[in-house]
Amino acid sequence: MSITTVAAYAAPSAKAPLERTTVPRRPVGEHDVLIDIKYAGICHSDIHQARDGWGEGIYPMVPGHEIAGLVAEVGDGVTKFKVGDRVGVGCFVDSCRECEYCKQGLEQYCSGAGVSTYNSLGKDGEPTYGGYSTHIVVDENYTLRIPEGVGLDEAAPLLCAGITLYSPLAHWNAGPGKKVAIVGLGGLGHMGVKIAHALGAEVTVLSQSLRKQEDGKKLGADHFYATSDPKTFEDLAGTFDLIISTVSAPLDFSAYLSLVKTDGALVNVGAPEEPISLNLFSLIGGRKTLAGSMIGGIAETQAMLDFCALHGLGAEIEVIRADQINEAYERVINSDVRYRFVIDTATI
Ligand SMILES: [Zn+2]
Ligand SMILES: [Zn+2]
Repeated sequence: MSITTVAAYAAPSAKAPLERTTVPRRPVGEHDVLIDIKYAGICHSDIHQARDGWGEGIYPMVPGHEIAGLVAEVGDGVTKFKVGDRVGVGCFVDSCRECEYCKQGLEQYCSGAGVSTYNSLGKDGEPTYGGYSTHIVVDENYTLRIPEGVGLDEAAPLLCAGITLYSPLAHWNAGPGKKVAIVGLGGLGHMGVKIAHALGAEVTVLSQSLRKQEDGKKLGADHFYATSDPKTFEDLAGTFDLIISTVSAPLDFSAYLSLVKTDGALVNVGAPEEPISLNLFSLIGGRKTLAGSMIGGIAETQAMLDFCALHGLGAEIEVIRADQINEAYERVINSDVRYRFVIDTATI
């Protein structure tokens, strides 16, 4: 039995609020799994895309790329999953599978035809619809296993926020003896603190104010500094092996690079809309790296989920009903969430 039409919350156009509707799902193919979605996280990029902030949005748009649920049906050729398994889906649901990056397990950097979980065209040429929905059909090779040890609700945000921070922390070797700073304590940053702490690094939060200091310490931060205080930049000069910036506000990159040790890196996972200018001496004097990083590949995302389950790490969440999505969007824009909204899809 296949489900062909499912309930969902969609933005009918760029300026309109999200509303309940139905969208088609493809029949379950040989290598597909049908997932009964239980929870879907709200990522800031859902809002950008639903409101056409990045241009060329496909409408109606069903956002959602932090998906957790249970396998409801599998295709004849599926070997990795069975009915009832706890599974997740992240930011992409297919890739070219042939380019050098796909072959290395870096599908997030696919140079061919990648397929995003929503606001994208699938290999069948049809639009993809995301996780604000009751069911989704995904190729088993792009489906993740969510181990016991983390609830499905708090696991959902790991599929974007979790991997977005885990990947650069792993790539730049955050661990014992390393000093790591996380800039911004929001949906992304709070996962960065938890994961960096669990990896064994000494973790500092660099936040605009000390308002979230208590939270930061609870999440695993060893230190907490306000970036609005110029003294922070004096006290912490040359301190960090790795700084990960999760903020999209334009930073004074020279100032932040001055906090990086020789051979250290400042990695951006949030991006300001405007181009930046930088005095390159802030890199040259100390062989420093200014870098970016985007989510993670399938194997690394699985490794992240296994790591988080082992350490009992989920996101800090506020579960909402589907009819609260529009209100939640406003609250995300106003940074009024600690730290991730997750939609209970049974309310769609
Ligand atoms: Zn996201
Ligand atoms: Zn590829």
